Amino acid sequence: MRDKSKEFILFACPDIGEGEIAEVVSTLRSGWITSGQRTKQFESDFRAFLGGDDLHCVAVNSATAGLHLSLEALGIGTGDEVIVPNYTFTATAEVIRYLGATPVLVDVDEHTFNIDPACVEMAITDRTRAIMPVHFAGLACDMTSLDVLAKRHGLDLVEDAAHALPTTWRGCTIGTLGSAACVFSFYANKTITTGEGGMLVTADPDLADRARSMRLHGINRDVFNRYQSESPDWYYEVIAPGFKYNMTDIAAALGLHQLRRLPEFHARREYLAQGYDERLADLPIRLPASAPPGDVQSRHLYPIRLLPEAGLDRDSFIEGMAARGIGCSVHFIPLHRHPYWQAYCGVSAMDFPVSEMLFQQEVSLPLHTAMSDEQLDRVVNAARELLEHTC
Ligand SMILES: *Cc1c(COP(=O)(O)O)cnc(C)c1O
Repeated sequence: MRDKSKEFILFACPDIGEGEIAEVVSTLRSGWITSGQRTKQFESDFRAFLGGDDLHCVAVNSATAGLHLSLEALGIGTGDEVIVPNYTFTATAEVIRYLGATPVLVDVDEHTFNIDPACVEMAITDRTRAIMPVHFAGLACDMTSLDVLAKRHGLDLVEDAAHALPTTWRGCTIGTLGSAACVFSFYANKTITTGEGGMLVTADPDLADRARSMRLHGINRDVFNRYQSESPDWYYEVIAPGFKYNMTDIAAALGLHQLRRLPEFHARREYLAQGYDERLADLPIRLPASAPPGDVQSRHLYPIRLLPEAGLDRDSFIEGMAARGIGCSVHFIPLHRHPYWQAYCGVSAMDFPVSEMLFQQEVSLPLHTAMSDEQLDRVVNAARELLEHTC
C-alpha cells in the first residue's frame, strides 16, 4: 500500500471524471473536433446555468481572449484609459495593451484583495473608458459602488470573472449584473476546466455579435445568411482583421460535464474552506474575507495572510509547507513588481502600499475538489506546526 502520509499534496489539480473522458472520446470519433455543436451546447448550458434568457454566451479559447474581445467590441483603443486593479494576473492588464490603450493601475482593499472603489474614483480622467474589476479568489467586488461610479462617469464595466464561478453579489450571480461584459476562465486550475478556455457573457446583442465574429477571423456568416441566403455554403465575408479565439468541441466536451458537476465541486470547495476557517482561526494569520451573508463565493483560492506576529515570513512558511509535502502558491505577484509594467506605467511599490503589503504576506493554501479530508488534516497540522510555537 502507498503511504498516504507522504504523498505530495498539490496546490491545485483538475478533477476530470469518466463523463468528461467519454465525451471527449466521442467528440474525437465524431469527425468534428473544432467549434461545432458541442461548443454551441456549452454556450447554451452556460446561459441556462446563469439563468438569463437575455444573456449571450460566447465560448472562447481563454479568458484572456474573452477580455480582449470585450474591450475590442467596446471600441477601446489608442488614447483610452482603462482602470484595473494592480493586484491581479497580468492578463487583466495586457489585453488593454493589445489594443494600444493605457491600463491605469489602482490599489486594492486590504480585507478583500479587491479593487478599491475610492482608488478607482481618484484615477478617473477625461480619457477613462472602462473599469475592469477582478473578483479575487472568487469573492465579489463591491459592484454596487463600481456601478454607481461607472454610470456617473459614463464608463463600461468589464468583469474579469476568471475566479468567480459560482459567485454572487447581493444575491445576483456574477455574469448577470448587467456589466458590458463578464468573462470566466476554464484554465486547468480554475473552478471548472476545459484545459484552456473561457466564456464571454454579455446582455448586449451587438457586443455579442462583434465578439462572435472577431473570435473567428472577423468572419461574418450571419450577415451573409440574412442577406444572401441563396449563396452557397462555402461563401463567407470578412468584415475585420479578427483573431483565432474560438473554442474547440474537444474543450467544450469537457466543459459540458464540468458545468454539470459545478454544484458538487462548489460544495466540496466550500467544505474544505470552512474546514480551514474553523481550524486555523486561532493562528497569527488573517483568514480570507467572507462573502456578505446570503452571498456565494466560489472559493477558487484560499488566500491567507501571515501577520507580522507570526514571526515567520511568507517564503519560510512556503518552504516549511513544501518540506511537509504540501504545495502552496502566491496570488499574485502584483503588476507593479513586474519589469514590463514598472517600465510601462512608471510605477513602484510606493504607489501601491496595500498591494505591496498583501504580496509580502499572502500564501494560497491547497484547495481543489479532489482533496481528501485526510489531506485537509495534513495541511492544517503542518500550518499549525509552523505557526503555533511562534505565538
Ligand atoms: C487565470 C486568470 C486569467 C486568465 O485566464 P485564461 O483563461 O488563462 O486566459 C485572467 N485573470 C485572472 C485574475 C486569472 O486568474
